[in-house]
Amino acid sequence: MSGLYVHIPYCAKLCYYCDFHFSLNLKTRNGFVDAVCRELQLRKDFFSTPVETIYFGGGTPSLLTDEEIGQIVSTIHETFQIQPDAEFSFECNPDDLTASYCESLLKNGVNRLSIGIQSFFDDDLQLLNRRHSSESARKAVRIAQNAGFQNITIDLIYGLPNMTMERWKKNLDEVAKLNVQHLSAYSLMVEEHTALHKFVRTGKFILPSEESVLEQFNYLIDWAKANDFEQYEISNFAKNGMYSKHNTSYWTGKPYLGVGPSAHSFDGEKRFWNIAHNAKYIAALRNGVIPCETEILTTRDKYNELIMTDLRTKQGVNESVIAQNFPPKYVQDFLACKAKFLKQNLLQENGTFVSLTRKGIMVSDMIMSDFFETE
Ligand code: SF4
Repeated sequence: MSGLYVHIPYCAKLCYYCDFHFSLNLKTRNGFVDAVCRELQLRKDFFSTPVETIYFGGGTPSLLTDEEIGQIVSTIHETFQIQPDAEFSFECNPDDLTASYCESLLKNGVNRLSIGIQSFFDDDLQLLNRRHSSESARKAVRIAQNAGFQNITIDLIYGLPNMTMERWKKNLDEVAKLNVQHLSAYSLMVEEHTALHKFVRTGKFILPSEESVLEQFNYLIDWAKANDFEQYEISNFAKNGMYSKHNTSYWTGKPYLGVGPSAHSFDGEKRFWNIAHNAKYIAALRNGVIPCETEILTTRDKYNELIMTDLRTKQGVNESVIAQNFPPKYVQDFLACKAKFLKQNLLQENGTFVSLTRKGIMVSDMIMSDFFETE
């Protein structure tokens, strides 16, 4: 599986919880589209197999015009071999989705829409400083479905300030009504250097207790089962096996190329990431240079990453992969840790795979950090 990620580093409004790289200044976008196309050309030898997934994320990709998307998509096709049935995901803000915009996305080959909804309560959306309303979120899904999209995922956040179980249940009831194929539901993270961090620190926002957040997460898992959504990763739920192929390739350690400011790539041995500054990124590419830093992964990095990603998935960690690729000490540590957590009913085994139980999912961070190698 080979995946291509394109980072679109622009937003129309700053969401208070966000720590992704983006700019509210859209003046550089023409230069940006040219720069991304140049980076794609310079990375022409990255893939040794056809690209199976394309993902436009951000930022807000839906701020791009039909022509801008078309220019990037044409360059992708001219530069790489793309599987005819490749998954092509595109992140959208609900306010940007009109019938004609959907049509242009379909024409450009997009076959999976990711709509950032976060909550169906207007006061939650205002509190997070989101740009859309709950009504425009519902409308966006209907417009996309009417346009012909048959693979739609939406994002929700739980653990919001003042979120009660009743409100969380209502949010999930709304998802059930929308008839979407996929849901990503995340617990609100308070990242440093965000407005949210400041509001929590100064007492402007009061977060729910850890117990209530866990209660909301537990309810989510029950709700998903009752509504035929399979929890194939801790925060991701799919109907009828419609997993995100792109994200699954991240979670299973497959190589991927990320282009655009701040985008990360992994070629199986090295990780590299582009400068998180739009103007500097554009200026460097004008001179034919990709402004990126590289890190060669150590055996310990690779092991810890494998634990961190695979243990989040329903399938879990393949013990044979550990045995075949890591030194005996790591294998012994893995087996000791596994035995301890199996006894506590936090892990389960299925053939050579080891995965979290329902009880284990609730304490996944503790389990992963216990598995991690420190030297
Ligand atoms: S739209 Fe997405 S990337 Fe932009 S500020 Fe909001 S959360 Fe961040």
